[in-house]
Amino acid sequence: MIKILSITALLTLLGLFTLNFLFSVADKIDKIEYSTIITDNKGDVIHAFLTNDDKWRMKTSLEEISPLLRKTIIEKEDRFFYYHAGVNPFAIIRALANNIFKMKRTSGASTITMQVARALERRPRSYTNKLIEIFRAWQLEWNYSKNEILRLYCNLLPYGSNIEGVKSASLLYFKKDPDHLSLAEITALSIIPNRPSSLVPGKNNELITLERNRWLKIFARNKVFTDKQIVDALAEPFNAIRGNVPKMAPHLSLLLKKNGMPVVHTSLDMNMQLKTEKIVRDYTRILKLKNINNAAVVIIDNASHRVITYIGSSDFKDTSDGGQVDGAMAVRQPGSTLKPLLYGMCIDEGMITPKSIIPDLNINYAGYAPENYDKKFNGNVTMEYALEHSLNIPAVKCLRQLGTEKFIHSLASCNFVQIRKDQKKLGLSMILGGCGASLFELTSLYSSIANGGMFAKPVFTNDEKVSHGFSVISEASAFMINETLSKINRPDFPINWQSTERMPKIAWKTGTSYGRRDAWSIGYNKKYTVGVWTGNFSGAGVRELSGAEVATPLLFRIFNTIDYDSDEEWFTQPAECDIRIVCAETGLIPAAFCANKVSDFFIPMKSSSAICGNIREMMVSANEKISYCKTCAPASGYKKKMYKVISPELQEFYDGHNISYLKIPPHNPQCEQVFKNEKPQILSPKSEFEYMISKKDPEPLQLQCRAGNDVSRIYWYIDNQFYKTSDVNSPVYFLPGEGPVKISCTDDKGRNKDVWIRVKYVEM
Ligand SMILES: [Zn+2]
Ligand SMILES: [Zn+2]
Repeated sequence: MIKILSITALLTLLGLFTLNFLFSVADKIDKIEYSTIITDNKGDVIHAFLTNDDKWRMKTSLEEISPLLRKTIIEKEDRFFYYHAGVNPFAIIRALANNIFKMKRTSGASTITMQVARALERRPRSYTNKLIEIFRAWQLEWNYSKNEILRLYCNLLPYGSNIEGVKSASLLYFKKDPDHLSLAEITALSIIPNRPSSLVPGKNNELITLERNRWLKIFARNKVFTDKQIVDALAEPFNAIRGNVPKMAPHLSLLLKKNGMPVVHTSLDMNMQLKTEKIVRDYTRILKLKNINNAAVVIIDNASHRVITYIGSSDFKDTSDGGQVDGAMAVRQPGSTLKPLLYGMCIDEGMITPKSIIPDLNINYAGYAPENYDKKFNGNVTMEYALEHSLNIPAVKCLRQLGTEKFIHSLASCNFVQIRKDQKKLGLSMILGGCGASLFELTSLYSSIANGGMFAKPVFTNDEKVSHGFSVISEASAFMINETLSKINRPDFPINWQSTERMPKIAWKTGTSYGRRDAWSIGYNKKYTVGVWTGNFSGAGVRELSGAEVATPLLFRIFNTIDYDSDEEWFTQPAECDIRIVCAETGLIPAAFCANKVSDFFIPMKSSSAICGNIREMMVSANEKISYCKTCAPASGYKKKMYKVISPELQEFYDGHNISYLKIPPHNPQCEQVFKNEKPQILSPKSEFEYMISKKDPEPLQLQCRAGNDVSRIYWYIDNQFYKTSDVNSPVYFLPGEGPVKISCTDDKGRNKDVWIRVKYVEM
């Protein structure tokens, strides 16, 4: 007998396990679709989305099922919840007896687990279906913890209309999360699912109050809560009405909804987000008068690498300029905003320091001849000046020397997606904005400068871990960039900005894209990095649009609001960064003759230690008309004089701007020494160009060169045949034959330069 019983028990168990395996309950649970909930950094809901079946079915977290909520539900629905295995045998027997002897069906036999089983798959009431539910209840108990089952129960409770679950009901009726509900509110919420269509908050509040109080009195009789708790709950008025689900931070919420998680805990600081939204809204109201319709802002907390404010447009609901477009992620031309990274990288390469001199003069790299914003050239400038004034030519020169590949590699590793995609197509113009980047990418990059050059991809949620990060520029280099970008006396300081004394100290850089379509201003201090973009989503350019005059005032306003009166200290000079004295005219280590000296930051063992060769002591004749070298200097009758060495380009600039300078006198014509450096440059014709000459009306080509200031005569050769001699500045003309032509220019020191061109005679 015992044997038969144990075999039966074993077979039943085996059967149950097989069924459990064949009809998985986990599949049913995984299929529940929840509304996506977006919370702020404190966990408060800031945005939620309907499910695909248009339900508000929000997932309650385990922490939100407070002891008070748990106690009330269990007391009301299933007092033995923690003691049974899904079904309460006594309740079933009682229900069966009721059904058989009184010929009526009673409910109340259902445990919380049974109710979950029923909510997972709705079936008509029958004894067979009841058996299936009992099996499902056992399955739930076998596979899930009591807390998980209670959570499922909370999530699936029907509240009428399209509201499901305690979390949705709590938010829509009481505007708070379930763990903040009072006993009175919890009791009300626990009775509505019994009759959701006749207990509608806002419509049947009196009835709900009556029913609530009836249950509170039952709780009092059963001594579940203290008398004080019950008295307070009874006295609490019930005047809930259905509210709206919050729809804050819409751009980021939409972006994060794509991840498919039921709950996304963003790192947004709603206090800052809402304040900044208001500033942006008020500011764009004024901009609209100038036909500038939109703005986007990203704020990153530098220490945690988390995005704490995210504004995709000035007004999500305004469709006149695509308010739903996410301007923080949109790929646009970045203008000059990549320059700080470039100079930072060049400092690390030892190429430059803040006081290094970079000539800002007309350049032409294989046909690429960039201009400055104001179409002027400034001659010799320091790197600092070039960055502060956002000069284009020094930036192009530096990028050429550093190498675009290296620069692109750095940007790609800092997650510049479009730049990574386009890397094969990008050239020197990328440093002036000839590439695509988003506000989020740029703000992330500046945040890395604020973090001593350490880049870690910023995250939007508290759920994500921040990656370890890597050094994109050294701490010393980042410090030099901070110092340069935080100076107030600069041309891109907004003209009408007065309240400088109230500003927290920040470093910032502006940018304006080609055609004035985008205005950028990105700033940081130790605490925050704020990225601002203004422009039109339609892509329309506006004459008044500029980083300095349009984006920067908004940046300043935001910093003034979020970090007003900040007592955060400024960046301190890192140990690897040192100070040295350099020649002010070259930024190099001063030579004996250098008179004008300044102090400069540098990185020992890294920054160039070249010695200034700016001043040269020359041997000249008594009348200073002839210069000598060691080989040709006469035994007596000469004197020594200091001359500045001026490159041919700079000479041309000085001549063009009527800047006087001391020319080194022409070299002794009798000298036989041949100089090998400072060869002349052929300006026209251009090397490797094809020239079309009209057959009918042939026009000669101009021969023009530039030579060192020690040169007085030059000699032209065509295909190795002497052609003509002239002084440096007089143009010479000649008419070449068809085909390839070699043109050579030799100066009076024997230094030579060749170019090849191709000539074609055409009908014109
Ligand atoms: Zn010097
Ligand atoms: Zn000589």
